[in-house]
Amino acid sequence: MVCMKRLALALLAAALLLTLAGCGANGTIAANEKSDTVVNIVTTLFPAYDFARVIGGERCAVTLLVPPGAESHSYEPTPQDVLRIENCDLLFANGGESEEWLETLLSGAEGDFSALYMLDCVQALEEEEKEGMQDLHEEAEEGEIEYDEHVWTSPRNAMEICRTLCRTLCSLDPDGAALYRTNCENYCAQLEELDAAFRRIVASGRLDCVIFADRFPVRYFVEEYGLDYYAAFPGCADDTEPSARTVAFLIDRVREQAVPAVFYIEYSNQKMADVICEDTGCKKLLFHSCHTLSAEDLENGASYLSLMWANCERIREALG
Ligand SMILES: [Zn+2]
Repeated sequence: MVCMKRLALALLAAALLLTLAGCGANGTIAANEKSDTVVNIVTTLFPAYDFARVIGGERCAVTLLVPPGAESHSYEPTPQDVLRIENCDLLFANGGESEEWLETLLSGAEGDFSALYMLDCVQALEEEEKEGMQDLHEEAEEGEIEYDEHVWTSPRNAMEICRTLCRTLCSLDPDGAALYRTNCENYCAQLEELDAAFRRIVASGRLDCVIFADRFPVRYFVEEYGLDYYAAFPGCADDTEPSARTVAFLIDRVREQAVPAVFYIEYSNQKMADVICEDTGCKKLLFHSCHTLSAEDLENGASYLSLMWANCERIREALG
């Protein structure tokens, strides 16, 4: 009886959340139109969505275009997405190759909106082919530089991105400037705390290397904290079958340094991590790159900060 009641309550809560978030048919998280909305922001990826709702506060309505669980790299925009962008004040996206779909969309879009890309807010790093990594790249064109696009995985980059967003909002909506600056400063203070925690953990860890038995979308993170890494696949690779050579290489690295845990990332099939754990007896831990959230994560109120603090604890465990 109690159980049924709880279930009914949970279902009701879920239904309510869905209504509140205004989930469209395609799963887009549409903003709650607030009566006092001054700036309409359309975002593509979760980190942009999260930063925008924090800095924008009550003056901004924020929409997340790519639905929960969907791969942003292979996203196919709907006609409604075009309308949403045409009617927004600010498009806040990641930019770069994995959002090529956006470029195509924008070439046909009308409307008077500003655009800000997270990739342009920070010093971009070139993609790296690390020793042992399974090469899944289509041949890069001669002389073409490929940038790692997962810039938000460094909390210091997150600060830069938020400050740029804050300046952009201040110029779009000068009356809200005081609010945006306060929100930004408060949020950056919280990011500073997170950053300090990562530095403490890395400084006191036995190891200075992390092993990703998975794709590796966190190069900015390891660079920031001076960690070395080994990984199975590049950051934006399609999920793929682990090759015997890659598995063997990573198993050797785990044994060599008695690594207590290897990482997998969100929405992974965890196949390679399982093979390595079985063979070496190490643990597998989630590193949530904040790239792709599930509907459940969103409903439970997950944020960049909550996900990164959870990563913090797991990094502590993996560094021994
Ligand atoms: Zn990616």
